[in-house]
Amino acid sequence: MTNSTDDQPIIELVNLIKTYGLLPVLRKINLQIFRGEFVALLGPNGSGKSTTLRLLTGLTRPTAGRILVGGWEVPGEVAAVRAQIGLVSHKSLLYENLTARENLNFFGSLYNIPRNKLKEQIDHILEQVNLADRGNDLVRTYSRGMQQRLSIARALLHGPHVLLFDEPYTGLDQSAAATLDGLLQNARQAHHTIILATHQLNR
Ligand code: ADP
Ligand code: MG
Repeated sequence: MTNSTDDQPIIELVNLIKTYGLLPVLRKINLQIFRGEFVALLGPNGSGKSTTLRLLTGLTRPTAGRILVGGWEVPGEVAAVRAQIGLVSHKSLLYENLTARENLNFFGSLYNIPRNKLKEQIDHILEQVNLADRGNDLVRTYSRGMQQRLSIARALLHGPHVLLFDEPYTGLDQSAAATLDGLLQNARQAHHTIILATHQLNR
């Protein structure tokens, strides 16, 4: 779902200001990102990376300025914006007492994916993140790396074009990091637009 054409930016921040009380976090950010670009937000802890990603997904409101994704604006058109965005954050947003499949079923229903299509999509996505054989196990029995892979599956489930990754390598073991490398590479080859926030240059 998009309102824009290829010569327009897929993401546009205009004079974006965010303050928490008296604390200025983002001071008039202007940024344009075009389809298929891979952008790194690099900065120390507390510099406002997570806040920027949360603003893009409508999880927090701008103090002033505009945020447009595919021509749609948050917070006013948040559903149209969220349909285009998948956010992978270090808070996994998963339900530990549900299985992986139950989690994905729940999140899929939030995006109004038709039932038969959802089942197919869940099978496909569990394959992609190497969890096909553990799909019926409770999430609380998962390692940190498996939970991270499932949280990536959750973010990709509704087929969003824009992918946001917030410190995705934090706490991953080597094999989970390698899976994430592969997923990022696939996403780039498929011309997804990717923003990756990190405080370290080497992962
Ligand atoms: P980063 O992701 O780059 O580490 P954050 O966006 O998490 O930075 O935080 C930027 C600043 O905003 C920090 O000073 C943080 O303490 C503050 N902050 C973040 N979220 C909130 C909040 N919900 N309430 C108050 N202050 C916040
Ligand atoms: Mg952060």
